[in-house]
Amino acid sequence: MGLVVQKYGGSSVADAESIKRVARRIVDTTKGGNQVVVVVSAMGDTTDDLRDLAQQVSPLPPARELDMLLTAGERISMALLAMAIHDLGHTARSYTGSQAGVITDSVHGKARIIDITPGRIRQALDDGAIAIVAGFQGVSQDTKEITTLGRGASDTTAVALAAALGADVCEIYTDVDGVFTADPRIVPSARRIARITSEEMLEMAACGTKVLHLRCVEYARRYQMPVHVRSSFSTREGTWVIDTPPDDKDGQTMEQAIISGVSHDRSEAKITVVGVPDLPGKAAAIFQAVARAEINIDMIVQNVSAAATALTDVSFTLPKTDGVIAMSTLEGIKDAVGFQSLQYDDQIGKVSLVGAGMRTHPGVSATFFEALADAGVNIEMISTSEIRISVVTRAADVDAAVRAVHTAFGLDAEETEAVVYGGTGR
Ligand code: ADP
Ligand code: ASP
Ligand code: MG
Repeated sequence: MGLVVQKYGGSSVADAESIKRVARRIVDTTKGGNQVVVVVSAMGDTTDDLRDLAQQVSPLPPARELDMLLTAGERISMALLAMAIHDLGHTARSYTGSQAGVITDSVHGKARIIDITPGRIRQALDDGAIAIVAGFQGVSQDTKEITTLGRGASDTTAVALAAALGADVCEIYTDVDGVFTADPRIVPSARRIARITSEEMLEMAACGTKVLHLRCVEYARRYQMPVHVRSSFSTREGTWVIDTPPDDKDGQTMEQAIISGVSHDRSEAKITVVGVPDLPGKAAAIFQAVARAEINIDMIVQNVSAAATALTDVSFTLPKTDGVIAMSTLEGIKDAVGFQSLQYDDQIGKVSLVGAGMRTHPGVSATFFEALADAGVNIEMISTSEIRISVVTRAADVDAAVRAVHTAFGLDAEETEAVVYGGTGR
C-alpha cells in the first residue's frame, strides 16, 4: 500500500462544489489502494480577504493576532473537506498544523518548520481514516503560539509532512497543469515542463514562480521527495520536480534545455537610501538594522559615489509586506548612519530568466537585454547567478517583458496548451 500526500490550493477548494469535487478525487486515490494525507489551503482568496480585513482594523496589526486570524482560513477548508469526504461514506479527520505536529520557530508570519511529529496523523492512517491537515501553519516550540509559514506555504507543509511520513510522492494540486515556461496567465503559449530539476525549480520559485513555494522545493531536495505539480481540474500528467528520474537509474540525465523558463514577481518593493557617506561600515549598519527586523532582502545596488560629495545611494528590494517596518527601522538609524533621506517605490516588478544551461552557453544575457530593449522596457536593477539573470523594471512593464523574453528564447509553443482552470491570480 502506498502513502500519498496531496495538497490542494485555494482555487481548488474555492466553493462548496469544488470541495465536493476534491473530496471525490481524494476518495478515488484511496480506492486505488493508497493511504492519503491531504494538506489544504484556505478557500479561494480567503487569506487575502482576511489580510484586507485586518488592514481595515489596524494598519500594522500585531503579528501574533494576524497569524491567529489567517490560520482560521485553513481551519474552515479542512473541516468542510472532511465533511464532504464523510458524505461519500469514508472517514476523514481534520487537524490544525499544531495538532498535526508541525513545530516551528517563533517568527510570526514567516515561521520555519523545525520539526514534524506526526503521531496523530499516523494514528489516523492506522485507523483507516484520511487525514486532512491545515496548510501553512504550525506551533512555536518556544512560545507555544500559533504561527504561519509565509504566503503560499501550504506547499511546504505538504512536502515536510510527506518527508516526515516517508510518503512515496507529494502531489501539489493547483489551477494549472503543472509548471510552465512562464505564467500561463501572462503567456498563453507557455509550454508545460514535464520534468525539472530541484536546482532549476528552486531558482524559479525564488524568482516568483509561485506555483511552488520556495521552501517546499528546498525540503523536497533535502529529503529527495518526488513532487508532482498538477491540476485538480484535469487528469493530465503535470510536472515532476525530481533530480533523478525513475527511468534514469545511473543518474545520467538527458541533455538539459538551456532555459527552463521566465519568472516574474510583483511582490517586491524597492527602498533607496539616499546620500550614504561612502565609508567602511555604512552598508553593514544599514543591512544589520534590516536583518534585525527579520526582513529578507533580495537585490542590492550601490552606486559609485559622487566625487564632490563622497556620498552614494544604496538601493535594495524586499517584500512589499515588510515595507512599512523597513522604512521605520531605517528612519531610526538615519542620524547614526548619516544618510540624507529614504525613497520607497512599490511599483516595481522583477523578471528573471532561469536555466542550468546558462552556465555553458554564452550570449544568453545579450539576447535577454536585447529582447527587453526591443519591447521598450527600461531596466532599473540587474542581478545574476550562475543559472539566472534578473532585472527590476516598472511593474507596468512586467507582462510585456515576460512575453518578449519568452519569445526571444524560442519558448513559445505552437499550439496553446496552457489552460488556466480557476483562481484569480491574486
Ligand atoms: P494554489 O492556490 O493552488 O497554491 P497558486 O496561485 O499559489 O495556486 O499557484 C498557481 C498559479 O501560479 C497559477 O495559476 C499561475 O498563474 C501561477 N504561475 C506563475 N508562474 C507559473 C509557471 N511558470 N507555471 C505555472 N504556473 C505559474
Ligand atoms: N492560504 C495561504 C496563502 O494564501 C497558504 C497557501 O495557500 O499556501 O498564502
Ligand atoms: Mg500556492
